[in-house]
Amino acid sequence: PHGDIHADVVVLGAGPGGYTAAFRAADLGKKVVLIERYATLGGVCLNVGCIPSKALLHVAKVITEAEETARQGIVFDKPGIEIDKLRGWKETIIGKLTKGLSGLAKQRKVQTVRGTGKFTSPHMIEVETPDGPKTISFDHCIIAAGSSAARIAGFPYEDSRIFDSTGALKLEDIPQRMLIIGGGIIGLEMATVYDALGSKVSVVEWMDQLIPGADADLIKPLHKRIQKRYEAIYLKTKVTAIEPREDGLRVTFEGKSDGASTPEPQVYDRILMAVGRRPNGRDIGAEHAGVDVDERGFIPVNKQLRTNVPHIFAIGDIAGEPMLAHKATHEGKLTAEIIAGGDHAEKAAFDARAIPSVAYTDPEIAWMGLTETEANKQGVEYEKAVFPWAASGRALAMAREEGMTKLLLDKKTRRILGAGIVGVNAGELISETVLGLEMGAEMEDIGLTIHPHPTLSETIFFAAEIAEGSITDLY
Ligand code: FAD
Repeated sequence: PHGDIHADVVVLGAGPGGYTAAFRAADLGKKVVLIERYATLGGVCLNVGCIPSKALLHVAKVITEAEETARQGIVFDKPGIEIDKLRGWKETIIGKLTKGLSGLAKQRKVQTVRGTGKFTSPHMIEVETPDGPKTISFDHCIIAAGSSAARIAGFPYEDSRIFDSTGALKLEDIPQRMLIIGGGIIGLEMATVYDALGSKVSVVEWMDQLIPGADADLIKPLHKRIQKRYEAIYLKTKVTAIEPREDGLRVTFEGKSDGASTPEPQVYDRILMAVGRRPNGRDIGAEHAGVDVDERGFIPVNKQLRTNVPHIFAIGDIAGEPMLAHKATHEGKLTAEIIAGGDHAEKAAFDARAIPSVAYTDPEIAWMGLTETEANKQGVEYEKAVFPWAASGRALAMAREEGMTKLLLDKKTRRILGAGIVGVNAGELISETVLGLEMGAEMEDIGLTIHPHPTLSETIFFAAEIAEGSITDLY
């Protein structure tokens, strides 16, 4: 049966995964409908994720740089912050990008339907639009409904002083004292912003290191730096209670940071809950389409991103870790090509060798491929080459020599297996190593590639030379 609209391909959710899939499928000649509950396209990433956070992190960097140039003999007054203007600037960026996306959708004749969509059968989605329900039938569907901020049960979330990353990015005010629950990427990026804006920031993390997915040696320079700036960093500690009071939120802790005693209860003006993301798999009526959803809310997929129902695909955050925008877009493009390719696409599959991760903290932390922790766990025979930025002329010239570049290589083949970088612009630098891994580069390939001097990118070249025992001079 046909719905009010029939599409070759329906895409549920217009985040980076969804819009990429929709645009690619349209470019390949399909009639595409893109369903999105919010007024703007772009999903979490553009509206309340990657982009607004990076805008605020840019400002944070300017502020902290201005504070720290005294060492070089440049003294600024304390930067004044006009928060309304700052918020407005951030909104302008989002506006430009989301407007750009709707233009691109129109150009390609991708029909966008606004409203919350739920499956009613394996070939039908009903959308609750502002003008009432609309049914959309389809030959193929790509589920790209993303994820939402996770919560720890039992805290008084009705109190608006407790917020998640979306609330923190709204930048309603600059709290005096702020607690961030969760020392992962999102929590620490927001910590970087609010610390620069002048809040007294504390971070509490249950694991024994910040950003638990990354190698400990990469975290050290970040930890050392923020320990000086923040009020407190509690590791191996959790929050057991939050009590709303007039003078703030009273927080009780449990656990022993650094072998010390359990922190005393504290009162904060604001609390950011940054304890991970929950996939939206339970909220789309998947059962009516016969699509399996696991207990966490992820939709299991095969290497073609097909769910257990072969004409329905799932991509992005809802289809599994890592929950990153560049993973979502890569998968979006692939599914569109598989659908449009018909029999020709039978062998197409997700086959990325590495998905880089970046924490846009200050310093940044970036890693890709095997981490050392994983290599040790898997018993991989690897060698490592580490180049400390204290020996990089460029890092010294930037007064940011705390960084480090680490390459992991296969002992026998000398091929790159993984890389980790901590330091200014680590997120930009990591791409070279990803390309190296995708192309099966050996250390010699990197060592024989002429890198511009003096740059931070040379640190990758130096690390490769160290691996080959051929390093001649530093700086
Ligand atoms: P989403 O972006 O979550 O989009 C899903 C869309 O589907 C949403 O627009 C939602 O409204 C819509 N939707 C859901 N259910 C329905 C329904 N039933 N009907 C209609 N519409 C629906 N990643 C990076 O790679 N780099 C970063 O720097 C980065 N920074 C981040 C910072 C923050 C604060 C946060 C929260 C996340 C960040 N991420 C970052 C993660 C990134 O945002 C996600 O990985 C990415 O947005 C996932 O894309 P997606 O297409 O899977 O889903």
